[in-house]
Amino acid sequence: MKGQTNLPRLAIASLGGTVSMEVSDGGSGVKPKLGCEEQLAKVPLLREMAHLEVATLGLLPSASLGFAALLDVLAWAQREVERGAQAVILTQGTDSLEETACFLDLLWPVEAPLIMTGAMRAASQPGNDGPANLLAAVHVALAQGSRGRGVLVVMNDQIHCAAKVRKTASLALAAFESPGSGPVGEVVEGVAVYRQPPDRRQVLPPPHRTDHRVALLEACLDADTGLLQAVASLGYEGLVIAGFGAGHVSSCWAEEMDALVPAMPVIVATRTGSGPTALASYGFAGGEIDLQRRGVHMAGQLCPRKCRILLWLMIGAGKQHQLHSWLPR
Ligand code: ASP
Repeated sequence: MKGQTNLPRLAIASLGGTVSMEVSDGGSGVKPKLGCEEQLAKVPLLREMAHLEVATLGLLPSASLGFAALLDVLAWAQREVERGAQAVILTQGTDSLEETACFLDLLWPVEAPLIMTGAMRAASQPGNDGPANLLAAVHVALAQGSRGRGVLVVMNDQIHCAAKVRKTASLALAAFESPGSGPVGEVVEGVAVYRQPPDRRQVLPPPHRTDHRVALLEACLDADTGLLQAVASLGYEGLVIAGFGAGHVSSCWAEEMDALVPAMPVIVATRTGSGPTALASYGFAGGEIDLQRRGVHMAGQLCPRKCRILLWLMIGAGKQHQLHSWLPR
């Protein structure tokens, strides 16, 4: 074992989630309970791998995290890098992990990796995966090849990039995938092995306002236009639609775009779960050619939820007019 002072320095914080959850006395079901120190105590080896700066930043189920809290987490993480951390690790709930990772990735301006992980089985459950995920996250955090890749999600010994990762199973241990491209790498016998080169990254400036809201609606069979018509009057400043197939809506939803597009940016993504939206294939009313003609942006590779994060951050930074170049084909 190396002397503590020679060890690389990592900052690690927890926000809550199943990885922190245990059965509470007298209550039913598991709830967030373990702070970051207590999570780390389950893997004593970590203290031999790195000097750890530890913080408990929250004890929330991840559906209750929000943009304001994430901006605080970002500020903490950046401070830790400035103070010499080689990488930062966050543990949190898996339910919103694909969104929080995307949010932080769009704002993470440095080469140092920001690694996110969690667990599918609570700390008090047999076979809980939190400790193994934490160990894998530390291996990835310490790997030279992780630098310059922005935010990475490490679950089940797979390494996913923030822009593509999705939770695709509600309870299974192998709950995360990167549809279409697969994980960028994996952890093999404690070594982070990358199978894909780093993507070219673009980073946004932090938002200078946070009071705005972006709506997300899903197109579905025989849906009326009531909610769509209400979006502008309710004060939303942007709209994302999880569209059918390659990014389509019904003809009556398409007609509503003529009123919406002058009022706010509208993005149509695909609700299918994988694949890009089309640009030049379908010519019917509500198809992507018609939607673009009406001024709608097609999401490209980004899933609806990540589009909403992107649009919120772009509006916050006053850069919504550059949206097109942020929606890769
Ligand atoms: N089931 C969730 C988890 O995996 C709960 C949450 O997202 O906090 O952590």
